[in-house]
Amino acid sequence: MRLILLGAPGAGKGTQAVVISQKYNIPHISTGDMFRSNIKNGTELGKKAKEYMDKGLLVPDELTVDIVKDRISQADCKDGFILDGFPRTIYQAEKLDEMLKDLAIELDYALNIYVPDDEIIKRMSGRRVCSKCGMSYHIIYNQPKADGLCDSCNSELIQRDDDKEETVIQRLSTYHKQTEPLIEYYEKKEKLLTVHGQEGVDDTTREVLSALSGAKL
Ligand code: AMP
Repeated sequence: MRLILLGAPGAGKGTQAVVISQKYNIPHISTGDMFRSNIKNGTELGKKAKEYMDKGLLVPDELTVDIVKDRISQADCKDGFILDGFPRTIYQAEKLDEMLKDLAIELDYALNIYVPDDEIIKRMSGRRVCSKCGMSYHIIYNQPKADGLCDSCNSELIQRDDDKEETVIQRLSTYHKQTEPLIEYYEKKEKLLTVHGQEGVDDTTREVLSALSGAKL
């Protein structure tokens, strides 16, 4: 299955991507995680990307498209993948169409997780991520088993710089201006599936898995 995830920052794309990736045994490709790992490793790409990320802005397309192209061309993506956080602009969506055409493969679905803005703001201030493996948690809605530690690798949980409130508000505005038009883009291509993500993680997962199993693959 080849899938992209759409939705505002904080809608739960990363959390659902992990579940889908395990269930369908396909790699989870997150451009946000790729940038964060570049930042951690001090690469040139990381340095450039951080300037935009810390302000709640999108990293320019010319720094983003090629890393996705390289990644989806790798052998483990042959039978499918889930793209989380890409495309985020119409230009990126058009570039993705070209990449898929070059690889002679087709996208199956664009899964949109809808959550209203006020809920997003509430959520993101409580979000914590594992400093090592990137797994997401929430101090109220999705608590780790041990306070401040990752269930999976036991490393420290941290708040991302871009989850601070003023950055969240800017990220939402960026989302509405640049990314939301993709909903119509994929609707026109008859690839769009929409689920409601404002309830708990488990309810959303149920909706996601039911939408995917009901869809024709
Ligand atoms: P995420 O973890 O998906 O919320 O991404 C965190 C940040 O990384 C975003 O706010 C952007 O600054 C940057 N980013 C991630 N994916 C993209 C993309 N496809 N295009 C541009 N910027 C991106």
